[in-house]
Amino acid sequence: MAITRRQFVSRLTAMSGVALLPGAVSHSVQAASHSDSRVFGNGKLWSLTDGQLSLPVSMAVPDSIEANERMAFFERHQLDPNQLTPDCNLTLWQQKDRVILFDTGAGAQFAAGGGQLADSLESAGFAPSDVTDVVFTHAHPDHLWGVLDDFDDLAFPQASYHFPAAEWNYWLDSSTLDRTPEARKSFVVGAQNRLPLIAERVSLFSGGDEILPGIEAIDTAGHTPGHTSFALHDGSESILVVGDALVHKALSFARPKWPSGSDQDALVAIDTRLSLLDRLAGDKSQLLGFHLPAPGIGYVERFEGAYRFVSG
Ligand SMILES: [Zn+2]
Repeated sequence: MAITRRQFVSRLTAMSGVALLPGAVSHSVQAASHSDSRVFGNGKLWSLTDGQLSLPVSMAVPDSIEANERMAFFERHQLDPNQLTPDCNLTLWQQKDRVILFDTGAGAQFAAGGGQLADSLESAGFAPSDVTDVVFTHAHPDHLWGVLDDFDDLAFPQASYHFPAAEWNYWLDSSTLDRTPEARKSFVVGAQNRLPLIAERVSLFSGGDEILPGIEAIDTAGHTPGHTSFALHDGSESILVVGDALVHKALSFARPKWPSGSDQDALVAIDTRLSLLDRLAGDKSQLLGFHLPAPGIGYVERFEGAYRFVSG
C-alpha cells in the first residue's frame, strides 16, 4: 500500500510516543465537518478549514476603545471577553483545468489549532499535487506558513504561485525587520524564510490585474501593506474572497470605524473596510472571509447605521 509523506509523519509521531496522533485524528474529523463546497459556474467552490486559532482580545479591539463600551459590545454580541477564537477558512476554486487555492494556512509551526489544511484537502478528495495555482492575500503566518509541509518542502509541489507585488516587496525589504515591533518580528522572519523558496515560480501582481481567468485582484491594503482581496467570476456567479480585510464577524461589520489591533495600518484598514462594506452591501454579492464563522460564506446587510454579516 502506498503511504503518503503525511501519513508517514503521523506514524512516526505515534511511534515516538508524542501525544499528537489523537489530536490529528480529531482534527481530521473536524476538518471534514467545517469544510463546505458549492457549485460555482462551471466549477466548484470549496471553503476548507485550516482549524481555529486562539488569540488575545487585544488583537481585535485596542485599549483606545473605552472599557465600558467594549464590554457592552461584547455582551450584546455574545462574544468571549477573554479570547478570540477565529476560524480559518481557505478558499479553493476547482475549475475544469485548474485547482486554485487562496492562501496556504498556518502550517505546523505557527500556533496550536491551525495547520489542518492538509487534512481538509484530503477529506475533500484532493492531493497536494492537484493544486495548480496558489494565490496569496497577504503574508501573515496563518495565511503563508502552510506553504511548507512537515518536511519544510513546498506543500504544493506542482503549483504556480501568485503574490501581491506590494506585499512581496514589503516583507522582503531589508529594513522591515528593524521597523517591526518586537512581538511581531517572528512574522517577518517567517516570511523571509519562506518567500525566497517560491521566488522562481511566483508571478507578482497589482490591484486591478486579472491574475487568472475570472480572478480580479482588488487592493485592500491596511491589514498589511499589500493585502489583496479577489473577485471571482464565472458566468452569472461571483464571490469576493476578502481575506483579512473583514476579519471579525461582529466588530468588522457593526463597528467598522474602530481600529483593529490586528491591522498593521489601522487608519488605512478602516478606509478599506468602509469602502468594501459599502460595495458588498450595495451589490449584495457573496463574500468568503478567512476568519468569519466557518465556512465564512455570506453577504453584507446595512444594519443600525452600520452593517452586519449574514451567513449563507
Ligand atoms: Zn489571518
